[in-house]
Amino acid sequence: MISKRVLSLAPYKTETTPAKIKLSSNELSVDFPEEVKKHIGEEVSKIPFNRYPDPEAHLLKETLAQRLGVSPENLMLGNGSDELIYYLSVGIGELNRGVFYPVPTFSMYRISAQVLGREKVEVELKEDFDIDIQKSVEAIQEKKPILAYFAYPNNPTGNCFSEEKIRRIRSLGLFTVIDEAYYPYSGKSFMEEALKRDDTVVLHTLSKIGMAGLRVGFMVGKEEVIRELNKVRLPFNITYPSQVIARLMLTEFYHLIEEEIKRVIKERERVYLELSKMEGIRAYPSCANFILFKSLRIPAELLHKKLVEEGVLIRDFSYMIPQCLRVSIGRPFENDAFLEAMERVLKKLQVFQK
Ligand SMILES: *Cc1c(COP(=O)(O)O)cnc(C)c1O
Repeated sequence: MISKRVLSLAPYKTETTPAKIKLSSNELSVDFPEEVKKHIGEEVSKIPFNRYPDPEAHLLKETLAQRLGVSPENLMLGNGSDELIYYLSVGIGELNRGVFYPVPTFSMYRISAQVLGREKVEVELKEDFDIDIQKSVEAIQEKKPILAYFAYPNNPTGNCFSEEKIRRIRSLGLFTVIDEAYYPYSGKSFMEEALKRDDTVVLHTLSKIGMAGLRVGFMVGKEEVIRELNKVRLPFNITYPSQVIARLMLTEFYHLIEEEIKRVIKERERVYLELSKMEGIRAYPSCANFILFKSLRIPAELLHKKLVEEGVLIRDFSYMIPQCLRVSIGRPFENDAFLEAMERVLKKLQVFQK
């Protein structure tokens, strides 16, 4: 009785292999001080969890709105931005109209479209991982999708697409979602346009800045757009503990997160340079908190496996982009452990290959 839409669905892939050094999910690697944890513990213990949480998460929304310089009416919260992607695929356009996104990219755009039986209009990125505007325009004119997703910066490639190309595609009449999950690392945003236009929203998340376990993402858009989409949302989608902890982290402890973000941006340049120096490796520039790289000599799958044996877990993306792997930027000691493990593995395997 399971629908064909579901039976043919490729599930969301993630890395759950246990490892000492985990650089596989673009989380922020951080260990908050004891006093922070204690304070959070105290606040969480006050939660009357026999009660439903505030369905609109007013306090958390106010905190976020203040941080962003928008009004709470411009915000819709999701159980991670994943949930908001799903809601957008439900709420934008009729289901007989397709969904456009450049590939390779974040897999939730595909999954949400397919589950709903919407046509997937996928166009391959160019060699430099920017949008192929000619092919995109052709595909859009032929298939007439009504919704477009752009990960900005893109995951797993790490680059930001050309803004002009995104606007060009939007001008063909597509409701445009700019998924800025890595905004804190790129500093680039379409938020101003989202606040002014009826055809644009921006997605942000707390997942990549130290709060992945809370599952809080948010959408920014015009009040009229947000009000309608909010009708699709399941009523209590942000749990009580998540509302409380996220709010505390974004007010009293946000300086700790900001420090960590700055450090990751610095480390990103270092890891990129070190990877670029390695023989048989091609690293791609990134404006996110991860780096995609290509293994030119050793099969990516083997490199991934050998790194796991060294206690370092990264993501093998060779199923999406031939020979490519993605490493998240961690704390300096973790990045060192990754770089050293890479050196060891490359040395060993390249010798055997000669
Ligand atoms: C990680 C990621 C997300 C998912 O974020 P959640 O808020 O944890 O659901 C969304 N979009 C992109 C591009 C991502 O890389």
